Amino acid sequence: MAEQRLTGLEDERKSFGSFRRRRLLKTSFILLVVGILAGIVANVFLTGNTLAIVWLSVFLLATIGAIIYFCLTKNADVAAMIVCFIVVASYLIYLEVGRHAVFVLYLFPPVPAVAFYLTGRYRGACFSLAAFIGTVVYLLWNRPLWEDAVFDAGSFTNFLVGSLAFLALVLCYELTIHKAQESLRKINEALRTLSITDSLTGLYNREWLDAELHRRLQRTETGEAFSVLICDIDNFKRVNDEHGHIEGDNVLKAFGEVLKKTAGDDCRIGRWGGEEFLTICDASQPVEAAACAERIRKAVEENDTSLVDDMTVSIGVAVYEQKDTAVSIIRRADKGLYKAKSEGKNRVRYVKTE
Ligand code: GH3
Ligand code: MG
Ligand code: MG
Repeated sequence: MAEQRLTGLEDERKSFGSFRRRRLLKTSFILLVVGILAGIVANVFLTGNTLAIVWLSVFLLATIGAIIYFCLTKNADVAAMIVCFIVVASYLIYLEVGRHAVFVLYLFPPVPAVAFYLTGRYRGACFSLAAFIGTVVYLLWNRPLWEDAVFDAGSFTNFLVGSLAFLALVLCYELTIHKAQESLRKINEALRTLSITDSLTGLYNREWLDAELHRRLQRTETGEAFSVLICDIDNFKRVNDEHGHIEGDNVLKAFGEVLKKTAGDDCRIGRWGGEEFLTICDASQPVEAAACAERIRKAVEENDTSLVDDMTVSIGVAVYEQKDTAVSIIRRADKGLYKAKSEGKNRVRYVKTE
C-alpha cells in the first residue's frame, strides 16, 4: 500500500542517516588508532619526544575506551562526541608538544571534517570553533617562540584565512545537506498525507481504512475491541439527478463535515467509496456503538446547513467478535446497512453473528 511504502521509504531515509554516521564513526576509530600508533612509533624511533609519547598513549587509551563503549552500548551519539573530544584535545596538545613546528598546523583540516560529519552541524561547529580559537589563542600567546622557529606573520595570516575558508565550506556543506534532508522529509510527509486522504472530502481514504482495520484487528489480541459503522446517504442518486454532480460532491463534503463533528474523538472516519462512509470507533459494546451511530444519524437529519434539506443516512453497525476478520466484520456492518435500508432508511441497525 502507498502509505506503507512511503513510511518504509521514510524509515529507510532515517536508517541511512544513522548507518552513514555509524560507518563514519568506525572509520574514525580506525584512523585515530592508526594515526596515534604511527605518532607513537615516529616519536619513539625518530624524535624521541617523551612528552608526545605520553600524550599519544593517553589518547590511544581513550580511543580504545570509546571503541569498547560503542561496542557495548551501540550509542553512536556519545561515542562520536568522545571521538571529537579526543581529536580536538590531541590536536591542541600537539601544538605544545610538537615543539612549535609549523607542520603541527597541518593537522587542523581534519578536525572540522571529523567534527561535522560525526556530530552534526551544531556540535560540529562547537568542536571546530574550539579547535580554531584554541589554535589562534595559542599562536598569539606563544608568538615569540613561533617567530624563533619557522612560523612568521605571513604563515599566521595564511592559517587564519585558510582555516576560516575551510570551516565555512564544511559548515555550508552540512547546512545544505540538512536543508535537503528537511525538504525530503517534508515531501515524504506531504506524500504520505496525500496517500491516505480522500481528495474530495479530506477524510481518510479506502486504503487507510483497510490498513486501520487490520491494525485494529491485531490490537484485539491485547483485548482492545472496536466497532465499525457503515454510513450510506439515503437517496443520494436523486441529489445528483436533481442538482447535478457538482452539487452532489458538495453534499458529500458537507456530510463528511457532519460526520467529523459528531462521531467523537474515539472514531476514525473515512470515505469507503461513493456515498458510503466508514467509521472505526473504540466503542467495544453494541450499546455504545449504536449510540454513536444514532448520534450521527440524528445530526445528519437535523443538519440545516446542508445543500439538501432532507438529507438522511442509514447506518449499519458491527462490533468486533472473536475470530472476526476484516471481511467478516465489514460483512456484518453491511448486513446492518441493508437491514436499515430495507426497513425504510434513516435508521441504525446493529447485526451480530448468528
Ligand atoms: P439508497 O438510499 O438505497 O442508498 O440510494 P442511493 O441513491 O443513495 O444509492 P445508489 O447506490 O443507488 O446511488 C449512489 C449514487 O452515488 C450513485 C452515484 O452516481 C453517486 N456517486 C458515487 N460517487 C459519487 C461522487 O463522488 N460524487 C457524486 N456527486 N456522486 C457520486
Ligand atoms: Mg450506496
Ligand atoms: Mg445511498
